[in-house]
Amino acid sequence: MRVTTAFKHLLALPGVTVRQVDFGSRQVTVTVALRSGRLRCPACAYTTTARYDTRPVASSWRHLDLGIWRLEVRAGLLRLQCPTHGVRTEAVPFARAGSDFTRDFEDLVGWLATAMDKTAIVRLVRIDWDSVGRIIARVMDDKLDPKRLDNLFVVGVDEVAWKKGQQYITLVSDHQRGKMVWGAEGRDSKTLDQFFTELGNERSAAIEAVSMDLGPAYAKSVRAQGHAPQAIICYDPFHVVQLATKALDTVRRQAWQEMRLLPDPTLAKRFKGARWCLLKNPVDLTDKQAVTLRKIRRRGGDVWRAYALKEALREIFAGDLSEDEVAALLDRFCSKASRSGLKPFITLSRTIAKHRAGILAAVHLGINNARHEALNGRVRLIMKRAYGFHSAKSALALIMLTIGPIDHVLPHERPPGVSILSSA
Ligand SMILES: [Zn+2]
Repeated sequence: MRVTTAFKHLLALPGVTVRQVDFGSRQVTVTVALRSGRLRCPACAYTTTARYDTRPVASSWRHLDLGIWRLEVRAGLLRLQCPTHGVRTEAVPFARAGSDFTRDFEDLVGWLATAMDKTAIVRLVRIDWDSVGRIIARVMDDKLDPKRLDNLFVVGVDEVAWKKGQQYITLVSDHQRGKMVWGAEGRDSKTLDQFFTELGNERSAAIEAVSMDLGPAYAKSVRAQGHAPQAIICYDPFHVVQLATKALDTVRRQAWQEMRLLPDPTLAKRFKGARWCLLKNPVDLTDKQAVTLRKIRRRGGDVWRAYALKEALREIFAGDLSEDEVAALLDRFCSKASRSGLKPFITLSRTIAKHRAGILAAVHLGINNARHEALNGRVRLIMKRAYGFHSAKSALALIMLTIGPIDHVLPHERPPGVSILSSA
């Protein structure tokens, strides 16, 4: 068997003939020629036999390693003139447009990114983390199930920070399937408008309920004409409890500020460390934190009352109460909070009263804390890894590739002889 024939089998790249194989230091360079006489636009389905010119330099792509050898595929490409996109370098059947990596290589990285930490991937595939980010963004664009936006009836909208310093992504999840189905950079009503534009009128009109936080931005987008004004807007109990946690934190901070003015600074210092034992769920406390919490309880005062209110609210949404029971307890909570003398909790009671119908709608639909927290918890874990990325799209891709509707097929799992092209 000739070396070129052997490499044609080894590389298994579609649509090419292997012309030459060169061995360098730890790198194999395989020069290929495209078999098809037609030139394809990289941005659309346009094909032509007319060349515009020849690209002066050869293009190259990193392919899957061959043992310890790094493998590079090289090809001289032509340029074409697309009526829509102008003069472009022709697309190749084995790599995504604009990529320096073959599709096989990218598919592997796309799957690794869902299962491996940054350090391990970077070491194994020998590319930097930002390159991983760009690769997974392309894999997401290519592989997201186009049907994921069909049959959406009850969806949840939420925001997540993808980078330190107020940089957010808006995410839409399908409550019934428990999957993320859509995402975009930003967190205002315009961000969610893009979702409805993509969904189109017919599918938007089929949406029955949308759960969200208590801010006005997402609700505004849902209610707009042509979006989903028919949908019931539900407020996630998760976010209601989150507001109570924030109110508690405000009370705690005020108490701490007052203690700092006392002659003994150790008291204030010790109290600052109490933050987590107050904000965490009681079952998650360490032994030491539990002791601190008992001390706060013995001391009583504003902080303890705020804590008791927060916990009472959390208990209401534990998921084991009927809608009527929740309604009654919620009203009781509001009257207690409004008489608490704690300003943040008086505000909270008003906010809850204002959103009462939407909160109860969420309870009615079974949108409970546990489910939201589970998905949210996963998103937050994924985002910790995404902090190193420089683009929101890469961060979004990490979420979608991990918990979105994507079927990862690794190069060796593809049935032999099956074309890897989604459009060709
Ligand atoms: Zn085109």
